[in-house]
Amino acid sequence: MKAIALFSGGLDSTLAMKLIIDQGIEVIACNINTGFGSTKDRLGHMKNMCEQVGAEFRSVDIRDEYIQEVLFSPKYGYGKNFNPCIDCHGKMFEVAKRKMEEWGASFLISGEVLGQRPMSQNRESLDKVLNLSNCDGLLLRPMSAQSLEPTIAELEGWVDREKLENIVGRNRDRQMELAESFGLKDYEAPGGGCLLTDEHFSRKIRDFIAHDTFEVADIPTLKYGRQLRLPDGAKLIIGRDADDNAILKTIENRKYIHIDTDLFGPHSLISANASDSDKMLAAKLILAYCKQNFEGPQVLDFGEEKITAVCDLSRKDATKYFI
Ligand code: SF4
Repeated sequence: MKAIALFSGGLDSTLAMKLIIDQGIEVIACNINTGFGSTKDRLGHMKNMCEQVGAEFRSVDIRDEYIQEVLFSPKYGYGKNFNPCIDCHGKMFEVAKRKMEEWGASFLISGEVLGQRPMSQNRESLDKVLNLSNCDGLLLRPMSAQSLEPTIAELEGWVDREKLENIVGRNRDRQMELAESFGLKDYEAPGGGCLLTDEHFSRKIRDFIAHDTFEVADIPTLKYGRQLRLPDGAKLIIGRDADDNAILKTIENRKYIHIDTDLFGPHSLISANASDSDKMLAAKLILAYCKQNFEGPQVLDFGEEKITAVCDLSRKDATKYFI
């Protein structure tokens, strides 16, 4: 008997998997990549949690499908920011259900806890997720199972419902107790969750779609660097530190050109269709962020084009263009 777990790397989904593995069922931990996960690398953490409970880790990339079908047209709307949580959960379960036959699984599990998050994990929301994904009966939520209707896995006797949990609400005491009894270590996930719940990131998406059509290749351009919108509409991205610069250098996106300088300074990107005036402004702003002292006009490479500018603007001047 095999089950697929929707796995985020968090404690609840890890405990849910352990409760099922302890009943002799093989669990595949399925992490769904929407593209909007934290900029921190959580892969090592997720694999570590899976190893500790004996689940097999697999990742499924749904970035394109997510942008086409969920992000901009959620049936159940958004949370506080650009987070379409109910539709997002529904999509994740739909994807996991699609994988069932291919991976030989008989049911699905998730770490959701009834009443833990007022918006997305109350009974009504959990039902909406089931409706959206057509997973009714297939999805077992081991952490709150005893407070929910029995699912196929329980009715068929594959899983003993009595050995599952009855956790409801925000109190985390029982989760801590279970983590302790299972001997789980390092279960605090590294900082930063889904970027769609972040106010600033949501503002950047709103700004982007007001000017352009959003595609998978655009995701990294929103995640890194200072983001500026210039007067003629060009987007300018200026690396904040060495990590940003290294990532920005690897971005290949036909909507942007890379800007290089011989000075010790940030790596930057600007819209490929930027006006001459926006390009000149960008050159001055980039020079303002260079860390090296220099005098007189400087030459910057805008892709094939060279632009010579003097630095007569400051970093404070740049802030008025920040998104
Ligand atoms: S927080 Fe992000 S990943 Fe999680 S359900 Fe909401 S939109 Fe989806």
